[in-house]
Amino acid sequence: MDGILRCPNCGAALEYSADSQMLHCRQCGTQMTVDAYRHYEQTQQNAAEQEPRGRQETQSRQEEDRQRGGMDMKIYHCSSCGAVLETDPNTVATRCAYCGNPTLIEDRIEGRYRPDLIIPFAISREKAVEGYVNWTGKGPLTPRELKARTITERMTGIYVPFWLYDYHAEGRVTANATRTRVVPRPDGEDIFTDYFLSVRELEADFRGIPADAARNMDDTQMDKLEPFNMEAVREFAPEYLSGYLAQRYDQNAEEVSTRAQERVKSCILSMAMGTISGYSSVVPLGSQVQLSPLRRRYALFPVWMMNCTYRGKPFTFVMNGQTGRIVADRPVSAWRSVWTGAAVFAGTFAALMLGGLLL
Ligand SMILES: [Zn+2]
Ligand SMILES: [Zn+2]
Repeated sequence: MDGILRCPNCGAALEYSADSQMLHCRQCGTQMTVDAYRHYEQTQQNAAEQEPRGRQETQSRQEEDRQRGGMDMKIYHCSSCGAVLETDPNTVATRCAYCGNPTLIEDRIEGRYRPDLIIPFAISREKAVEGYVNWTGKGPLTPRELKARTITERMTGIYVPFWLYDYHAEGRVTANATRTRVVPRPDGEDIFTDYFLSVRELEADFRGIPADAARNMDDTQMDKLEPFNMEAVREFAPEYLSGYLAQRYDQNAEEVSTRAQERVKSCILSMAMGTISGYSSVVPLGSQVQLSPLRRRYALFPVWMMNCTYRGKPFTFVMNGQTGRIVADRPVSAWRSVWTGAAVFAGTFAALMLGGLLL
């Protein structure tokens, strides 16, 4: 592969389509599965090995790129138009700013940077924009500026790197619990309180707890995008990236693991607490959780993103590229909120007057 997936029929660039879940050529309409493309590419490669001259030019150019910056090179040549592309060193898939062709920078997804798994996009760009427009329509206070076409054009599909952790967890919770009994007497009743010390021990295996591994992504926002449906996860193949942006991790697995561990801990504790039932009151005394790491994997998850500034403040809209779940803080138009505020105030004022009259 020379950075672009070539359509076997017309030679134009193939892109992964979220709608059909296949590689799609915009020029001639050819569609093929990722597996079929890999097979096709393999046969092409075998043929090229028989006569090696044809690919020499691109190879020497890639060699040149490699020598210039090694793994962290910032300069990359578009293999379609030859333009020099400057990218962030963590970008592994992008679109040429000159010819618009999707480009994969395969050097950057090799070795330890090669993901194990990927969830391909299932929400197309059109659907993401539609979702955004509906979302802006629902908030009466959403500023009009944010609904403009020029804003929706910034909607970008990006594969975000995640670490997935498997843990075996053992939790122990102690709590003071009470139960109240009412015993009737001829002249009234007796109330007894029984005190219990509850101890619960719980073991559980957790699989695929995700934590994003990109410094420039907001952790809280990424957590809120969950859940991702792990049934749709596939073994990684670079073909899925074509037509989207993709980043490789810049936070290693150890760095991010505390976030996953905290989640597992609080989950097993609340599971344990949940089993202490049938009491009038429960007061937790202490808890311990022991985690043994079982396995970790590196995955790319699909995210639709849109950034802009509204009244000098950054506004970010994020959507799960698999499920369509939206994460965004709704900005409020200053003028519209003044009017709504005034209406509420008038309402309250009227109620107060009415209250006054009644008094
Ligand atoms: Zn084609
Ligand atoms: Zn180009």
